[in-house]
Amino acid sequence: MIRPEVGDGVHLISHAHVNCYVIEDDDGITLVDAGLPTMWPMLLWLLEDRGRRPEDVKALVLTHGHFDHVGFALRAHREWGLPVLVHKQDAYLAAHPYRYKPERNRFLYPFTHPRSLPLLAGMAAAGALNVKGVSETQVLKPGTAVPVPGRPTVVHTPGHTDGHCILHLPDRDTVLSGDALVTLDPYTGKSGPQIVASAATANTRQSLASLQSIAATGAALVLPGHGAPWTHGAVEAVRQAAQIGAH
Ligand SMILES: [Zn+2]
Ligand SMILES: [Zn+2]
Repeated sequence: MIRPEVGDGVHLISHAHVNCYVIEDDDGITLVDAGLPTMWPMLLWLLEDRGRRPEDVKALVLTHGHFDHVGFALRAHREWGLPVLVHKQDAYLAAHPYRYKPERNRFLYPFTHPRSLPLLAGMAAAGALNVKGVSETQVLKPGTAVPVPGRPTVVHTPGHTDGHCILHLPDRDTVLSGDALVTLDPYTGKSGPQIVASAATANTRQSLASLQSIAATGAALVLPGHGAPWTHGAVEAVRQAAQIGAH
């Protein structure tokens, strides 16, 4: 599903409960996350619909290195020569999207036994188990406005993964929260602002602490890695997520 313009010049591509975003600017387009492999044609449709060409896409920024955010990264890099940016602590994960250190089995188990979890079955059907890693990445530096279209400010929000980052677009009053704060957890099927379940989060305590960085943006619109856009502000989203806490 493509929902053009969920934010000011920000478009959502959503499929199998996985989101990625297209940020449009006068000087081109930045992609935020690469979803699942089958979302590639949806990206092409969106570009065509916007009257844009692949050459207009200048960069792919990954909020983190999980396979459901790396889906078409290698393809975009190879076919378009697109630079892929990821925090240095998630570069290894982006290159090896299934090599989870401590929690590998716990993380992948439901994907390989997805019958009881329809949301994950949908992700598996969309290519979640066939993602190729991308190793030629560039370093995404927190605390800076990345020199790519939209000029997102990068904030390091460790917990879900060590190198997870959110992207703040101050001039658009929008924060792209990746999996640091979601409005639908594919592991539990539960809706509403929350951190991702501990089955898929490296450090739950750290993840809860990082919520404060999302609130600190004060953004009106929160665009998560999973679930619907949240229009009631980052502060309220974080309040609700903190209330739910670890799960
Ligand atoms: Zn994730
Ligand atoms: Zn995810």
